[in-house]
Amino acid sequence: MRFKKPRGTQDLFGDRMRSWAKVEEMLAALAGGYGYSEIRTPVFEVSDLFVRAVGEGTDIVSKEMYAFADKKGRSLTLRPENTAPVMRAFLENGLHRSGGITKFWYQGPMFRYDRPQAGRYRQFHQFGAEAIGHPGPAVDAEIIDLSLAIYRMFGFTNLEVRLNSVGCPVCRPGFLNILRNALGSMKSELCGTCSERAITNPMRIFDCKECVDIKNRLPVITDHLCDECSEHFEGLQSILRGMKVDFMLDSLLVRGLDYYTKTAYEVLHPGLGGQNALCGGGRYDGLAEECGGGKIPAVGFSAGMERLMENLPEEFAGKIGLDPVDAFFILPDESVSAEVLRIAGELRSAALRVSVDLSGRSMKKQMKVASESGAPLAVIIGPEEIEKKEAAVKVLASGGQESVPFAGLSARIFQERKNEVD
Ligand code: AMP
Repeated sequence: MRFKKPRGTQDLFGDRMRSWAKVEEMLAALAGGYGYSEIRTPVFEVSDLFVRAVGEGTDIVSKEMYAFADKKGRSLTLRPENTAPVMRAFLENGLHRSGGITKFWYQGPMFRYDRPQAGRYRQFHQFGAEAIGHPGPAVDAEIIDLSLAIYRMFGFTNLEVRLNSVGCPVCRPGFLNILRNALGSMKSELCGTCSERAITNPMRIFDCKECVDIKNRLPVITDHLCDECSEHFEGLQSILRGMKVDFMLDSLLVRGLDYYTKTAYEVLHPGLGGQNALCGGGRYDGLAEECGGGKIPAVGFSAGMERLMENLPEEFAGKIGLDPVDAFFILPDESVSAEVLRIAGELRSAALRVSVDLSGRSMKKQMKVASESGAPLAVIIGPEEIEKKEAAVKVLASGGQESVPFAGLSARIFQERKNEVD
Protein backbone atom coordinates (compact mmCIF):
# COMPACT_ATOMS: atom_id res chain seq x y z
CA MET A 1 0.00 0.00 0.00
CA ARG A 2 1.60 3.26 -1.20
CA PHE A 3 0.23 6.46 0.27
CA LYS A 4 0.02 9.75 -1.58
CA LYS A 5 0.03 13.22 -0.14
CA PRO A 6 -3.43 14.78 0.15
CA ARG A 7 -4.56 16.90 -2.82
CA GLY A 8 -3.34 20.47 -2.75
CA THR A 9 -0.32 19.79 -0.49
CA GLN A 10 3.42 19.65 -1.22
CA ASP A 11 6.57 17.92 0.05
CA LEU A 12 9.57 20.22 0.33
CA PHE A 13 13.11 18.81 0.31
CA GLY A 14 16.50 19.18 -1.36
CA ASP A 15 17.33 22.44 -3.15
CA ARG A 16 13.77 23.70 -2.96
CA MET A 17 13.70 23.20 0.81
CA ARG A 18 17.09 24.89 1.12
CA SER A 19 15.89 27.93 -0.79
CA TRP A 20 12.69 28.06 1.28
CA ALA A 21 14.78 28.02 4.46
CA LYS A 22 17.05 30.77 3.14
CA VAL A 23 14.09 32.91 2.11
CA GLU A 24 12.41 32.36 5.49
CA GLU A 25 15.61 33.45 7.21
CA MET A 26 15.77 36.59 5.07
CA LEU A 27 12.11 37.39 5.74
CA ALA A 28 12.65 37.02 9.49
CA ALA A 29 15.63 39.37 9.22
CA LEU A 30 13.65 41.84 7.14
CA ALA A 31 10.77 42.03 9.62
CA GLY A 32 13.26 42.17 12.53
CA GLY A 33 14.90 45.06 10.70
CA TYR A 34 11.60 46.94 10.87
CA GLY A 35 11.35 46.31 14.63
CA TYR A 36 8.79 43.45 14.39
CA SER A 37 9.18 40.34 16.57
CA GLU A 38 8.02 36.80 15.82
CA ILE A 39 4.84 35.22 17.14
CA ARG A 40 3.86 31.55 16.84
CA THR A 41 0.33 30.46 17.58
CA PRO A 42 -1.28 26.99 17.38
CA VAL A 43 -2.05 25.52 13.97
CA PHE A 44 -5.63 24.89 15.11
CA GLU A 45 -8.02 27.12 17.02
CA VAL A 46 -11.59 26.99 18.25
CA SER A 47 -13.74 27.18 15.06
CA ASP A 48 -15.82 30.04 16.38
CA LEU A 49 -12.78 32.36 16.29
CA PHE A 50 -12.70 32.19 12.49
CA VAL A 51 -16.49 32.24 12.11
CA ARG A 52 -16.65 35.48 14.09
CA ALA A 53 -13.48 37.11 12.79
CA VAL A 54 -13.36 36.15 9.12
CA GLY A 55 -17.15 36.26 8.80
CA GLU A 56 -19.94 33.74 8.17
CA GLY A 57 -20.71 35.03 4.68
CA THR A 58 -17.15 34.59 3.39
CA ASP A 59 -15.96 31.71 1.18
CA ILE A 60 -13.29 30.88 3.76
CA VAL A 61 -15.84 30.20 6.49
CA SER A 62 -18.75 28.89 4.44
CA LYS A 63 -16.79 26.54 2.14
CA GLU A 64 -13.12 26.23 2.96
CA MET A 65 -12.63 25.50 6.67
CA TYR A 66 -10.90 22.30 7.75
CA ALA A 67 -13.14 21.94 10.79
CA PHE A 68 -13.25 18.82 12.95
CA ALA A 69 -14.62 17.72 16.29
CA ASP A 70 -12.05 16.64 18.90
CA LYS A 71 -12.61 13.68 21.21
CA LYS A 72 -14.73 15.80 23.52
CA GLY A 73 -16.88 17.02 20.63
CA ARG A 74 -15.43 20.55 20.53
CA SER A 75 -15.27 22.11 17.07
CA LEU A 76 -11.71 23.03 16.10
CA THR A 77 -10.39 24.35 12.77
CA LEU A 78 -6.98 24.19 11.09
CA ARG A 79 -6.21 27.89 10.73
CA PRO A 80 -7.21 29.30 7.32
CA GLU A 81 -5.41 32.56 8.12
CA ASN A 82 -3.39 33.95 10.99
CA THR A 83 -4.66 37.45 11.79
CA ALA A 84 -7.49 36.21 14.00
CA PRO A 85 -5.15 33.83 15.93
CA VAL A 86 -2.61 36.65 16.47
CA MET A 87 -5.35 38.93 17.79
CA ARG A 88 -6.65 36.10 20.00
CA ALA A 89 -3.13 35.58 21.39
CA PHE A 90 -2.60 39.34 21.84
CA LEU A 91 -5.76 39.62 23.95
CA GLU A 92 -5.41 36.31 25.79
CA ASN A 93 -1.87 37.18 26.89
CA GLY A 94 -2.87 40.66 28.06
CA LEU A 95 -0.48 42.35 25.61
CA HIS A 96 -2.90 45.27 25.20
CA ARG A 97 -1.89 46.38 28.70
CA SER A 98 1.61 47.37 27.59
CA GLY A 99 0.24 50.18 25.36
CA GLY A 100 2.04 51.58 22.32
CA ILE A 101 2.17 49.47 19.19
CA THR A 102 2.80 45.73 19.32
CA LYS A 103 4.50 44.62 16.13
CA PHE A 104 4.50 40.93 15.25
CA TRP A 105 5.49 38.90 12.23
CA TYR A 106 4.64 35.26 11.66
CA GLN A 107 5.07 32.54 9.13
CA GLY A 108 3.64 29.07 8.84
CA PRO A 109 1.11 26.76 7.20
CA MET A 110 -2.52 27.78 6.57
CA PHE A 111 -5.30 25.46 5.41
CA ARG A 112 -8.22 26.13 3.05
CA TYR A 113 -10.39 23.57 1.30
CA ASP A 114 -10.08 25.40 -2.01
CA ARG A 115 -9.93 24.00 -5.57
CA PRO A 116 -6.22 23.27 -6.12
CA GLN A 117 -4.68 24.86 -9.23
CA ALA A 118 -1.48 26.65 -10.21
CA GLY A 119 -0.50 28.85 -7.28
CA ARG A 120 -3.40 27.65 -5.11
CA TYR A 121 -3.03 24.92 -2.51
CA ARG A 122 -5.00 23.42 0.36
CA GLN A 123 -2.02 23.66 2.68
CA PHE A 124 -0.11 26.81 1.84
CA HIS A 125 2.22 29.06 3.79
CA GLN A 126 2.01 32.69 4.67
CA PHE A 127 4.49 35.21 5.94
CA GLY A 128 2.72 38.15 7.53
CA ALA A 129 2.97 41.06 9.91
CA GLU A 130 0.54 42.77 12.27
CA ALA A 131 0.92 46.18 13.97
CA ILE A 132 -1.59 46.34 16.81
CA GLY A 133 -2.54 49.39 18.88
CA HIS A 134 -2.59 52.56 16.77
CA PRO A 135 -5.21 54.00 14.39
CA GLY A 136 -2.99 56.39 12.39
CA PRO A 137 -2.38 55.95 8.65
CA ALA A 138 1.41 56.06 9.11
CA VAL A 139 1.18 52.55 10.59
CA ASP A 140 -0.73 51.37 7.49
CA ALA A 141 2.03 52.95 5.40
CA GLU A 142 4.73 51.11 7.33
CA ILE A 143 2.87 47.80 6.87
CA ILE A 144 2.51 48.40 3.11
CA ASP A 145 6.16 49.40 2.90
CA LEU A 146 7.25 46.27 4.79
CA SER A 147 5.23 44.02 2.48
CA LEU A 148 6.75 45.70 -0.58
CA ALA A 149 10.24 45.43 0.90
CA ILE A 150 9.87 41.62 0.65
CA TYR A 151 9.62 41.76 -3.10
CA ARG A 152 12.23 44.51 -3.45
CA MET A 153 14.64 42.33 -1.47
CA PHE A 154 14.29 39.51 -3.99
CA GLY A 155 14.47 41.75 -7.05
CA PHE A 156 10.84 41.65 -8.21
CA THR A 157 9.88 44.35 -10.70
CA ASN A 158 6.56 45.47 -12.23
CA LEU A 159 4.62 45.08 -9.01
CA GLU A 160 1.26 46.76 -8.67
CA VAL A 161 -0.07 48.02 -5.35
CA ARG A 162 -3.89 48.27 -5.41
CA LEU A 163 -5.35 50.36 -2.63
CA ASN A 164 -8.89 50.88 -1.40
CA SER A 165 -10.85 51.84 1.69
CA VAL A 166 -13.66 49.48 2.67
CA GLY A 167 -15.20 51.84 5.23
CA CYS A 168 -16.13 51.09 8.83
CA PRO A 169 -19.25 50.23 10.86
CA VAL A 170 -20.29 53.91 10.66
CA CYS A 171 -20.37 54.22 6.86
CA ARG A 172 -20.57 50.63 5.61
CA PRO A 173 -24.20 49.84 6.60
CA GLY A 174 -25.44 52.88 4.63
CA PHE A 175 -23.35 51.83 1.64
CA LEU A 176 -24.67 48.25 1.85
CA ASN A 177 -28.23 49.60 1.57
CA ILE A 178 -27.25 51.65 -1.48
CA LEU A 179 -25.57 48.56 -2.96
CA ARG A 180 -28.56 46.30 -2.27
CA ASN A 181 -30.87 48.84 -3.93
CA ALA A 182 -28.65 49.02 -7.00
CA LEU A 183 -28.48 45.21 -7.14
CA GLY A 184 -32.27 44.93 -6.99
CA SER A 185 -32.60 45.90 -10.65
CA MET A 186 -29.69 43.66 -11.74
CA LYS A 187 -30.79 40.41 -10.07
CA SER A 188 -31.33 38.52 -13.32
CA GLU A 189 -27.75 39.30 -14.43
CA LEU A 190 -26.06 37.91 -11.30
CA CYS A 191 -24.50 34.43 -11.15
CA GLY A 192 -26.09 31.90 -8.75
CA THR A 193 -23.63 32.56 -5.91
CA CYS A 194 -23.92 36.34 -6.24
CA SER A 195 -27.74 36.19 -6.15
CA GLU A 196 -27.30 34.81 -2.63
CA ARG A 197 -24.49 37.25 -1.85
CA ALA A 198 -26.75 40.14 -2.89
CA ILE A 199 -28.75 39.37 0.26
CA THR A 200 -26.18 37.98 2.71
CA ASN A 201 -22.93 39.81 1.91
CA PRO A 202 -23.30 42.06 -1.15
CA MET A 203 -19.74 43.44 -1.05
CA ARG A 204 -18.48 39.92 -1.88
CA ILE A 205 -19.90 40.44 -5.40
CA PHE A 206 -16.85 42.62 -6.11
CA ASP A 207 -14.74 39.45 -5.65
CA CYS A 208 -16.69 37.44 -8.26
CA LYS A 209 -14.78 36.37 -11.37
CA GLU A 210 -18.07 35.90 -13.34
CA CYS A 211 -20.05 39.08 -12.60
CA VAL A 212 -17.41 41.37 -14.11
CA ASP A 213 -19.74 43.60 -16.18
CA ILE A 214 -22.07 44.22 -13.27
CA LYS A 215 -19.23 45.12 -10.90
CA ASN A 216 -18.28 48.06 -13.06
CA ARG A 217 -21.80 49.45 -12.89
CA LEU A 218 -22.23 49.21 -9.12
CA PRO A 219 -21.84 52.10 -6.67
CA VAL A 220 -18.45 52.05 -4.91
CA ILE A 221 -17.77 52.50 -1.20
CA THR A 222 -15.14 55.22 -1.66
CA ASP A 223 -17.98 57.55 -2.76
CA HIS A 224 -19.78 56.87 0.54
CA LEU A 225 -17.07 56.95 3.24
CA CYS A 226 -17.68 58.77 6.53
CA ASP A 227 -15.42 61.73 7.37
CA GLU A 228 -13.12 59.67 9.55
CA CYS A 229 -12.58 56.99 6.89
CA SER A 230 -12.07 59.62 4.16
CA GLU A 231 -9.54 61.46 6.26
CA HIS A 232 -7.67 58.26 7.02
CA PHE A 233 -7.68 57.22 3.35
CA GLU A 234 -6.44 60.65 2.21
CA GLY A 235 -3.83 60.65 4.99
CA LEU A 236 -2.50 57.25 3.96
CA GLN A 237 -2.27 58.24 0.31
CA SER A 238 -0.39 61.40 1.20
CA ILE A 239 2.09 59.48 3.39
CA LEU A 240 2.61 56.88 0.65
CA ARG A 241 3.24 59.65 -1.87
CA GLY A 242 5.66 61.24 0.63
CA MET A 243 7.46 57.89 0.86
CA LYS A 244 7.52 57.61 -2.94
CA VAL A 245 5.51 54.39 -2.87
CA ASP A 246 3.59 53.90 -6.13
CA PHE A 247 0.02 52.68 -5.82
CA MET A 248 -3.22 52.53 -7.80
CA LEU A 249 -6.64 53.22 -6.32
CA ASP A 250 -9.00 50.30 -6.93
CA SER A 251 -12.50 50.85 -5.61
CA LEU A 252 -13.46 47.25 -6.56
CA LEU A 253 -10.90 45.72 -4.19
CA VAL A 254 -12.71 44.19 -1.19
CA ARG A 255 -10.64 41.14 -0.04
CA GLY A 256 -12.17 37.87 1.10
CA LEU A 257 -12.25 38.47 4.84
CA ASP A 258 -14.92 40.48 6.65
CA TYR A 259 -12.72 41.94 9.37
CA TYR A 260 -11.19 44.68 7.24
CA THR A 261 -12.05 48.32 7.97
CA LYS A 262 -10.69 51.39 6.17
CA THR A 263 -7.51 50.32 4.35
CA ALA A 264 -7.52 47.25 2.08
CA TYR A 265 -4.67 46.58 -0.34
CA GLU A 266 -3.07 43.95 -2.50
CA VAL A 267 0.29 43.55 -4.15
CA LEU A 268 -0.13 42.07 -7.62
CA HIS A 269 2.36 40.61 -10.04
CA PRO A 270 0.87 41.10 -13.51
CA GLY A 271 2.79 38.08 -14.90
CA LEU A 272 0.97 35.63 -12.63
CA GLY A 273 -2.36 35.36 -14.44
CA GLY A 274 -5.40 34.24 -12.41
CA GLN A 275 -3.58 33.85 -9.10
CA ASN A 276 -1.85 37.21 -9.38
CA ALA A 277 -2.03 38.37 -5.76
CA LEU A 278 1.32 37.97 -4.07
CA CYS A 279 0.16 39.55 -0.87
CA GLY A 280 -2.78 41.32 0.70
CA GLY A 281 -3.72 43.13 3.84
CA GLY A 282 -5.39 46.05 5.47
CA ARG A 283 -6.71 47.59 8.66
CA TYR A 284 -8.97 45.69 11.03
CA ASP A 285 -9.98 48.10 13.78
CA GLY A 286 -13.03 46.05 14.86
CA LEU A 287 -11.38 42.63 15.17
CA ALA A 288 -10.25 42.99 18.79
CA GLU A 289 -13.84 43.71 19.86
CA GLU A 290 -15.11 40.83 17.73
CA CYS A 291 -12.66 38.61 19.65
CA GLY A 292 -13.91 39.81 23.02
CA GLY A 293 -11.42 42.64 23.61
CA GLY A 294 -11.76 46.40 23.66
CA LYS A 295 -11.40 48.93 20.86
CA ILE A 296 -7.87 48.17 19.62
CA PRO A 297 -7.01 49.38 16.13
CA ALA A 298 -4.64 47.27 14.06
CA VAL A 299 -3.29 46.74 10.58
CA GLY A 300 -1.43 43.91 8.86
CA PHE A 301 -0.73 41.89 5.75
CA SER A 302 -0.04 38.35 4.70
CA ALA A 303 2.06 37.20 1.79
CA GLY A 304 1.73 33.80 0.10
CA MET A 305 5.03 31.90 0.39
CA GLU A 306 4.29 29.54 -2.54
CA ARG A 307 3.58 32.51 -4.82
CA LEU A 308 6.78 34.17 -3.66
CA MET A 309 8.88 31.04 -4.11
CA GLU A 310 7.36 30.05 -7.46
CA ASN A 311 8.02 33.49 -8.92
CA LEU A 312 11.33 34.34 -7.31
CA PRO A 313 13.58 36.20 -9.74
CA GLU A 314 16.68 34.08 -10.47
CA GLU A 315 19.09 36.54 -8.94
CA PHE A 316 18.62 37.52 -5.36
CA ALA A 317 21.32 38.75 -3.12
CA GLY A 318 23.01 38.10 0.19
CA LYS A 319 21.93 37.16 3.63
CA ILE A 320 21.08 39.33 6.61
CA GLY A 321 21.55 38.33 10.22
CA LEU A 322 19.03 38.63 12.99
CA ASP A 323 20.91 41.38 14.82
CA PRO A 324 19.29 44.46 16.38
CA VAL A 325 18.54 47.34 14.02
CA ASP A 326 21.33 49.84 13.34
CA ALA A 327 19.22 52.82 14.35
CA PHE A 328 16.01 53.34 16.28
CA PHE A 329 14.01 56.36 15.11
CA ILE A 330 12.14 58.38 17.71
CA LEU A 331 9.33 60.73 16.69
CA PRO A 332 8.48 63.50 19.17
CA ASP A 333 5.53 64.44 16.94
CA GLU A 334 3.42 62.23 14.64
CA SER A 335 3.04 65.04 12.08
CA VAL A 336 6.49 64.21 10.73
CA SER A 337 5.80 60.49 10.11
CA ALA A 338 5.84 60.79 6.31
CA GLU A 339 9.24 62.48 6.22
CA VAL A 340 10.69 60.12 8.81
CA LEU A 341 9.34 57.02 7.04
CA ARG A 342 10.84 58.34 3.80
CA ILE A 343 14.24 58.93 5.44
CA ALA A 344 14.08 55.48 7.06
CA GLY A 345 13.29 54.03 3.61
CA GLU A 346 16.35 55.71 2.08
CA LEU A 347 18.58 54.36 4.84
CA ARG A 348 17.16 50.86 4.37
CA SER A 349 17.89 51.15 0.65
CA ALA A 350 21.50 51.77 1.70
CA ALA A 351 21.37 48.39 3.53
CA LEU A 352 20.92 49.89 6.99
CA ARG A 353 18.44 48.34 9.40
CA VAL A 354 16.10 50.90 10.88
CA SER A 355 13.11 50.74 13.23
CA VAL A 356 10.70 53.68 13.48
CA ASP A 357 8.63 54.26 16.63
CA LEU A 358 5.18 55.30 15.30
CA SER A 359 3.46 54.77 18.64
CA GLY A 360 3.01 58.45 19.48
CA ARG A 361 4.20 57.67 23.01
CA SER A 362 6.18 60.11 25.14
CA MET A 363 9.83 60.74 24.19
CA LYS A 364 10.87 59.15 27.47
CA LYS A 365 9.02 55.91 26.68
CA GLN A 366 10.31 55.85 23.10
CA MET A 367 13.85 56.37 24.39
CA LYS A 368 13.40 53.48 26.83
CA VAL A 369 12.24 51.20 24.00
CA ALA A 370 15.20 52.38 21.89
CA SER A 371 17.63 51.47 24.68
CA GLU A 372 16.04 48.05 25.19
CA SER A 373 16.06 47.33 21.45
CA GLY A 374 19.83 46.88 21.46
CA ALA A 375 20.22 49.43 18.64
CA PRO A 376 23.47 51.41 19.02
CA LEU A 377 21.87 54.72 18.01
CA ALA A 378 18.62 56.56 18.63
CA VAL A 379 17.78 59.08 15.92
CA ILE A 380 15.35 61.80 16.98
CA ILE A 381 13.50 63.71 14.29
CA GLY A 382 10.69 66.15 15.07
CA PRO A 383 9.35 69.25 13.27
CA GLU A 384 12.36 71.33 14.38
CA GLU A 385 14.83 68.79 13.01
CA ILE A 386 12.87 68.59 9.74
CA GLU A 387 13.10 72.38 9.48
CA LYS A 388 16.87 72.32 10.02
CA LYS A 389 17.35 69.13 7.99
CA GLU A 390 19.40 67.79 10.89
CA ALA A 391 18.67 64.82 13.17
CA ALA A 392 19.55 64.56 16.85
CA VAL A 393 21.59 61.35 17.14
CA LYS A 394 22.10 59.73 20.51
CA VAL A 395 24.72 57.06 21.14
CA LEU A 396 22.78 54.79 23.46
CA ALA A 397 25.79 53.23 25.21
CA SER A 398 27.44 56.55 26.21
CA GLY A 399 24.39 58.87 26.22
CA GLY A 400 26.33 61.39 24.06
CA GLN A 401 24.22 63.42 21.64
CA GLU A 402 25.12 65.23 18.42
CA SER A 403 23.42 66.92 15.45
CA VAL A 404 23.82 65.15 12.14
CA PRO A 405 22.64 66.64 8.83
CA PHE A 406 20.18 64.31 7.03
CA ALA A 407 22.66 63.95 4.19
CA GLY A 408 25.25 62.55 6.60
CA LEU A 409 22.94 60.19 8.51
CA SER A 410 23.76 56.99 6.67
CA ALA A 411 27.52 57.62 7.01
CA ARG A 412 27.11 58.27 10.76
CA ILE A 413 25.06 55.09 11.28
CA PHE A 414 27.50 53.02 9.24
CA GLN A 415 30.38 54.46 11.30
CA GLU A 416 28.67 53.36 14.52
CA ARG A 417 28.11 49.88 13.10
CA LYS A 418 31.83 49.71 12.26
CA ASN A 419 32.75 50.95 15.77
CA GLU A 420 30.63 48.15 17.24
CA VAL A 421 32.40 45.51 15.14
CA ASP A 422 35.86 46.94 15.96
P1 AMP B 1 -5.58 36.15 2.14
O1 AMP B 1 -5.25 35.56 3.47
O2 AMP B 1 -6.72 35.47 1.44
O3 AMP B 1 -5.68 37.62 2.18
O4 AMP B 1 -4.32 35.83 1.19
C1 AMP B 1 -3.07 36.45 1.32
C2 AMP B 1 -2.11 35.82 0.35
O5 AMP B 1 -1.94 34.43 0.67
C3 AMP B 1 -2.58 35.82 -1.10
O6 AMP B 1 -2.24 37.02 -1.73
C4 AMP B 1 -1.82 34.63 -1.67
O7 AMP B 1 -0.50 35.00 -2.03
C5 AMP B 1 -1.76 33.67 -0.51
N1 AMP B 1 -2.83 32.64 -0.61
C6 AMP B 1 -4.11 32.72 -0.21
N2 AMP B 1 -4.77 31.57 -0.44
C7 AMP B 1 -3.87 30.72 -0.99
C8 AMP B 1 -3.93 29.37 -1.46
N3 AMP B 1 -5.05 28.64 -1.38
N4 AMP B 1 -2.79 28.82 -1.97
C9 AMP B 1 -1.64 29.54 -2.06
N5 AMP B 1 -1.54 30.81 -1.63
C10 AMP B 1 -2.62 31.40 -1.11
